[in-house]
Amino acid sequence: MTDTDPLYEALDRGAAEVAGQVVAWRRHLHAHPELSNREEKTAALVADVLTGLGLDEVRTGVAGHGVVGVLRGGAPAEGRLRQRVVALRADMDALPVPDRCGSPYASQVVEAGYPGGPVPVSHACGHDCHTAMLLGAATVLAGVRDRLPGTAVFVFQPAEEGPPVDEPGGARVMLESGALDEPRPTMVFGMHVAPYPKGVVAYRAGNQYAASCLVKIVVTGRQVHGSSPWQGVDPMPAAGGIAVGVGQLYRQVPAHRPVTVSIGHIEDVGRFNIIGETVTLWGTIRCEAQEDMETLQNALRRLAEHQAESYGCTAVVSFLQPVPPVHNSPEWVAAALPTLRRVAGEDRVVETVPTLGYDDVSVFLAAFGGLYVVLGVQDTELDAAGAPVPLPGGRGLAPNHNPQFYADDDTLVTGVRLHVRVAWDHLDGRLEP
Ligand SMILES: [Zn+2]
Ligand SMILES: [Zn+2]
Repeated sequence: MTDTDPLYEALDRGAAEVAGQVVAWRRHLHAHPELSNREEKTAALVADVLTGLGLDEVRTGVAGHGVVGVLRGGAPAEGRLRQRVVALRADMDALPVPDRCGSPYASQVVEAGYPGGPVPVSHACGHDCHTAMLLGAATVLAGVRDRLPGTAVFVFQPAEEGPPVDEPGGARVMLESGALDEPRPTMVFGMHVAPYPKGVVAYRAGNQYAASCLVKIVVTGRQVHGSSPWQGVDPMPAAGGIAVGVGQLYRQVPAHRPVTVSIGHIEDVGRFNIIGETVTLWGTIRCEAQEDMETLQNALRRLAEHQAESYGCTAVVSFLQPVPPVHNSPEWVAAALPTLRRVAGEDRVVETVPTLGYDDVSVFLAAFGGLYVVLGVQDTELDAAGAPVPLPGGRGLAPNHNPQFYADDDTLVTGVRLHVRVAWDHLDGRLEP
């Protein structure tokens, strides 16, 4: 099939027709962000749209606020293609980050009832774009359902950024709840918007995103008046020693494998004249190779326990919310590259370096196979090493999770086209490892 074939033309025409609506959905979602496991209104909008499209199934309340839509094509294939099911995935949650993207639809939302709240809430990771693009793709595919040679499953996932620590949530819970048991995907596809040049599709064969876990360390001393520390046990110096010491842990794994350990949040219960009983450190471990996770966890536990002991305290270390690396097998990459290039353009599909970000889409990819790529949405260009740098005269480079993060609306139609063409090519037998 060439690019001038009527079917691709129909898909591209559908994407062009829905592009304005995708931008409108995206701006609405951007102005009304919801934190992980609180995606109530987002899920309601998604369910409304999917129901309006007349899908065969729309399941709501999946692993919290997840929504799964199923579209069974009217042109079922024969033979080996008979059971083809493509799952297209988007995440829906926002972050506790202020919105300084500079757009008129920037979020003003402050969430009071969230752990650690009140916190400003924004789509600083671009999941508003993901949700809107997948709604667009569902619209396009529903419009050609009579010719669809298989089944498309639209997976709208909650809590990708990690639910509150005492709540279950995210991709693993969706999978364990049986959300993708029937129909069972033969391929999962998804993408993440990023500070790459607008319309560039970046991929990596191997681990594209890192293995991750959340770190919680509670250092306990004995509370006492700030004027007489010798009558108690101060946990603060031990907490300081741990926060500094994590910077050395990278040396425990081979230097050619990227890892990082960060403490992003320290919480104490004292005040200026009270030495508090506990200090809690929150952080994350990231490693490109899963095999390094256990090494780093053991090293961090040892560091924390011994730092605590040296100041007369105790430390309890927990590793929570484990996420495997996003693995793109070379076979899936090779199979998908022709499709990606037809959509984005030959010179707009680039191989990227691994990042130590995570995405729990990895759970779906590990279970069913498939591919995850990055879609550029910012005013950047690629330097000689292939890394994005600001484009002169543009809005600059603003990484995900930064208050200034922004995404160009006009690029979202490329994401819609990626979804529908990957889906079609897989169902049609053209895209398979
Ligand atoms: Zn994120
Ligand atoms: Zn994200």
